[in-house]
Amino acid sequence: MEIFYRDKNIEQIDRRSLEELQYKQLIYTLGFALRTPFYKTRLAQSGIYSPADIKSLKDLKKIPFTTKDDLRECYTQGLLSTSIDNVVRIHTSSGTTGVPTVIYHTQEDLNNWTDLVARSITACGVTKKDVFQNMMTYGMFTGGLGLHYGAERIGILVIPTSSGNTKRQLQIMKDFKTTVVHATPSYMFHMYSKLNEYGFKLEDLHLKKAFVGAEPYSENSRKKIEEIFNIDVYNSYGLSEMNGPGVAFECVYKNGMHIWEDSYIVEVIDPKTEEPVKEGAEGELVLTTLKREATPILRYRTRDLALIYKDSCPCERTHRRLSRITGRTDDMLIVNGVNVFPSQIEQVIMEIPEVGNNYMINLSKQGAMDKLTVKVEIYSKLFHGDISELEHLKAKIKDNLRASIIINPNVELHEPGSLPVFELKAKRVEDERPKL
Ligand code: ADP
Ligand code: ZN
Repeated sequence: MEIFYRDKNIEQIDRRSLEELQYKQLIYTLGFALRTPFYKTRLAQSGIYSPADIKSLKDLKKIPFTTKDDLRECYTQGLLSTSIDNVVRIHTSSGTTGVPTVIYHTQEDLNNWTDLVARSITACGVTKKDVFQNMMTYGMFTGGLGLHYGAERIGILVIPTSSGNTKRQLQIMKDFKTTVVHATPSYMFHMYSKLNEYGFKLEDLHLKKAFVGAEPYSENSRKKIEEIFNIDVYNSYGLSEMNGPGVAFECVYKNGMHIWEDSYIVEVIDPKTEEPVKEGAEGELVLTTLKREATPILRYRTRDLALIYKDSCPCERTHRRLSRITGRTDDMLIVNGVNVFPSQIEQVIMEIPEVGNNYMINLSKQGAMDKLTVKVEIYSKLFHGDISELEHLKAKIKDNLRASIIINPNVELHEPGSLPVFELKAKRVEDERPKL
């Protein structure tokens, strides 16, 4: 098998040199972190006042964890380490309470991120001869711009279609002979299911590879997508707090995702005891940025569960490999690649006076795509009232939800007392989606 590298020196660096580099970068990162109002206080509470207080990588454990709530509390500038004049872009991700987390990037930060993405897609054997169609949403979502700049850096032709409009996606794929796409697993299945309906045949496409991520999927789903399109599928993991895509990516061997350890320190902990798990065991991923100036993040609790493979990869990269994400330690739902917390939904609907006190969240499949339905009980007076009033209320709930969770939900109004009641902890989420 032909193996491709962007920077062999760093991708095949020996573990000892890698650890030295990580320590050097950790010190560099602490320098930036201590300039942020948040870490200045937080680190002082642990007796860390200067980067020199961390004497080796072993001292990493003296640094307290950072959580999503911490990031939210930092809104807007609590985690900004530099003058806003040095910032060239922000990305935000949605939060449970409507307060987003914000990541600032200097030009240097963007350059480093771009390098990681360029390295990642090169590892899958993509070259400048390919034609890359990026079907992930542009804008605040990092899958759009993140992959975009990384792909441009290797000199590939990039088609920034963004998400949606499947017919147009297919037409462009055909007309411009797209060889590589970036999409969620559900969108790959959706696209396939629409091929014939929109008048295309598989032979019209020139597709060879797909980068697939942003939501969990199984090895079987990978194989299925590979079979139906006759392509290679590479898993890609990232989160906006750590830039976005380019944190961990599969190489041509497709046996787990190399975590770029020159740019991130990865730890796997038991989410309950917060202690490291045994080597190779499953736990919560904790990540530290090593190359970020504007918003350094130390020991971030991702809430993602996974494990790190112990064996080495035939590609001879020394950066360790991450398994598929097997679950979450919180109740975050991923709906067509978009993160949604049940508490966000609750907050929106409970602000509407006509809504009663019971609701359910249902997830199912409509074709290959996820469908989110919010069922709400409304007061009986209303329920037996005017139909147009009901329609109006439904539209209002829908609009308010869409504004908060970004995706378009289905809303059902129910009579009071008709939804299940729970004596103990309410189980309001019904996830009927078959496991991908
Ligand atoms: P994105 O735009 O990629 O959804 P977010 O920061 O909004 O970025 O979401 C990141 C989360 O998405 C991760 O913490 C993880 O739960 C999920 N995720 C991203 N990539 C994958 C993947 N390849 N497999 C499983 N889950 C993933
Ligand atoms: Zn490899």
